[in-house]
Amino acid sequence: MTIKRPPLSKELQLSVFRRDGWLCRWCNRPVIFAPVMKFLEREIRNAGYSAPLSYHHAHWTRANAPLLDELGAVIDHVEALSAGGAHSEDNLTTACNKCNGQKSNAARIEWEKRPKHKPIKGKYGPPLCWDGFSTLFVILAQRDPLGLTAVEKDWLRALCL
Ligand SMILES: [Zn+2]
Repeated sequence: MTIKRPPLSKELQLSVFRRDGWLCRWCNRPVIFAPVMKFLEREIRNAGYSAPLSYHHAHWTRANAPLLDELGAVIDHVEALSAGGAHSEDNLTTACNKCNGQKSNAARIEWEKRPKHKPIKGKYGPPLCWDGFSTLFVILAQRDPLGLTAVEKDWLRALCL
């Protein structure tokens, strides 16, 4: 079931990602700020390499963007909207694309009973300063500000606030 919901602002999404340290709430894996992948690919092209690369794809397909298919950062509702969850920051969380796909609209209690990836626990503790490559996005995006799409400009603006 798809529920119509107003789009979340870039500022709100970044505030959730940063609050959560760019870690998936469900499996603890570090997530990636997806727009950076296009710019990483561009760097490689600009360096003169032309072999096909599976870095970036608009639909995060496993065939064309395996890293995003697994670890692309998405905003998830802790309590699904369809189960009465609110569309507010305290009901929003960071998730990896894989967990988000598995969770879909399942209510949180039902979801937590299901088997899933074992949460990662680092020998030396949780990541201290992971940023999902969002700082790298700012640097790479600013190299060619005129070539940015409207969405990329919005992200850049929100990241530089
Ligand atoms: Zn996850």
